[in-house]
Amino acid sequence: MRRKLVAGNWKMNGDSAFVSAFSSAIAPNIQALPEGIDVLIAAPTILLPQLCQEFALTRVLVAAQNVSSYASGAYTGETSAEMLSKAGCDACLVGHSERRALFGDTDEVMLSKVRRLLEVEIQPIFCIGETLEQRDLGQASNVVTSQLALLLDNLSSEALGKIAVAYEPVWAIGTGRTASPEQAQAMHERIRDHVRQKDAELAEKMVLLYGGSVNADNSSELFAQPDIDGGLVGGASLQADNFAQICKSIECR
Ligand code: PEP
Repeated sequence: MRRKLVAGNWKMNGDSAFVSAFSSAIAPNIQALPEGIDVLIAAPTILLPQLCQEFALTRVLVAAQNVSSYASGAYTGETSAEMLSKAGCDACLVGHSERRALFGDTDEVMLSKVRRLLEVEIQPIFCIGETLEQRDLGQASNVVTSQLALLLDNLSSEALGKIAVAYEPVWAIGTGRTASPEQAQAMHERIRDHVRQKDAELAEKMVLLYGGSVNADNSSELFAQPDIDGGLVGGASLQADNFAQICKSIECR
């Protein structure tokens, strides 16, 4: 049975007081979840040490939203994977559509980021997804599988087994317009089939998340789909009560 994962992405929100209030509100809810469900929060870099400290004795995992593609050295403004590891991070987003669109993260850069993270045993959460224009042109499957091919073509099955993939249609991120459970399941099935062509065992164990306007009203139906193993939740992860509800809506199958 695959583990379930609900990941919150705070994007560029939060401060120290918010971290304290959020952690005390969420931790008891998460402790009560059945074994087999992981919960993590991806926060801005400056909040990560505090978040790691607040969640140290809880089941909540901590993720960064970005990492340098370089290991160390003269890269002003960057944060290395080793620094994240020493701060206590468990995971890190790579390839979020906002990074692809606004910060020019290319395939080469994203692959290097994934490699740097794997070197220090931080789990990459690799985000893929098509734009509305690509979907309307009937290109959604091809776009998503070619984004995934970056990993499948360049990493071993062993390395791939350490990565979670988040399918996030760009048209559903922050728009309030979520993919229907059927649309999301169809793409997740397609993604898993694509991984199966490389390695059947890997396909069965790879954790696939859905992201895009997930909230407490739509999460149970999305998470009930057979190939959806959890979610990447942006806006709704900023309210502890809502996020706790979303985490509770996932069931172990
Ligand atoms: C995200 O930031 O990855 C995301 C899915 O955002 P939202 O849930 O707000 O659409």
